[in-house]
Amino acid sequence: MKRTGILIVGQGLAGTVLGWTLSRAGIDWRMIDAGHATAASRVAAGIINPVTGQRWVKTWRIEEVWPETRNLYLDMERTLGVPLWREMKIRRYWRTDKEQRVLLAKSTRGELAPYVTMIDAQSCVLAPAAQVDVPGMLTAARQRWLAEGRLIEARADWGVNRPQYALVIDCTGAAVRTGPFAAWSFAISKGEVLRVKTRELDSGMIMHRGHWVLPVDNGDAWIGATHEPGVDNLQPTNAARESLLASAHRLTGEVFAPTAHLVGLRLAASDKRPVVGRHPGDPALGIMSGLGSKGVLYAPWLARQWREHLLHGKAFDPAVSITRGDGGGEV
Ligand SMILES: Cc1cc2nc3c(=O)[nH]c(=O)nc-3n(C[C@H](O)[C@H](O)[C@H](O)COP(=O)(O)OP(=O)(O)OC[C@H]3O[C@@H](n4cnc5c(N)ncnc54)[C@H](O)[C@@H]3O)c2cc1C
Repeated sequence: MKRTGILIVGQGLAGTVLGWTLSRAGIDWRMIDAGHATAASRVAAGIINPVTGQRWVKTWRIEEVWPETRNLYLDMERTLGVPLWREMKIRRYWRTDKEQRVLLAKSTRGELAPYVTMIDAQSCVLAPAAQVDVPGMLTAARQRWLAEGRLIEARADWGVNRPQYALVIDCTGAAVRTGPFAAWSFAISKGEVLRVKTRELDSGMIMHRGHWVLPVDNGDAWIGATHEPGVDNLQPTNAARESLLASAHRLTGEVFAPTAHLVGLRLAASDKRPVVGRHPGDPALGIMSGLGSKGVLYAPWLARQWREHLLHGKAFDPAVSITRGDGGGEV
């Protein structure tokens, strides 16, 4: 049988942004997705934070990637008719004197420009930051693609589905570890978030001190997120719930009652960079994965690389290519 066409396996953030980008370039594709019950994208708060960590590190490649990230989500928002992209600020409180000293030193040297817009006695304001409604995006794109007959709701069987297509791209998130890329070294980190009702938070400001509080629409807010490297289950825990509620109380003074408690698994290569490209031993297989905790920022850039590769044969960026030696390497 002659193989034709492209199959995207998985309609999380990666598969959705990839499908969207290929459609915009006039490249035909089909998609199969097993449902969002275990998708990390279902619990992603969708925050793009320009400066992270206790050492205040500028997010890798943010200046280069931000414009196309913004344009893609705004395009989706306009076309799908749902609000997706919000430009926001992050008010971050430091937890130690050392954190404060590092911030002041780096700001004075101009290393964090233009993102540190204000510093006071306990905190600073980071901008621009953004938030994308990832669950809303998945739902709206799924409805469109089901209606177009592009998306099949089923679990892919690699042995059965693969042979029908000239190229199959693995966008299965944490399930990458059990598919054709299982030989690559990926690590996971369990994350838990809460949804709560809130009274009077500034809707344009994310509050952050170890954990964050993110106001969204209709008086709702998200509190997140825990990080448990190596923990591979989707059970909500009381410890995470109590820790998130305590952080949120400290940040806002409010006492929250959760309306939902969600859990997901982040997947990352050992160098923490995303992974994209064709399988070195089997070019009929591709991947877009390892989005870690910054998938919203990087997915449009990775999808653009697939577009340019398929249209013009362009090589994938060596820093994120599946063929790179460190971090993305086969074990
Ligand atoms: C608590 C938490 C908070 C987060 N917050 C943020 C944040 O604020 N900002 C940010 O940028 N990132 C955040 N992330 C990270 C973000 O969620 C991920 O980077 C991103 O969602 C990963 O998307 P994905 O498409 O690779 O995988 P997933 O979202 O897991 O999607 C994989 C899809 O593939 C499907 N699938 C799997 N196997 C098969 C198969 N055999 N056949 C068919 N379908 C299959 C699944 O059903 C699923 O729909 C957070 C993650 C967690 C856990």
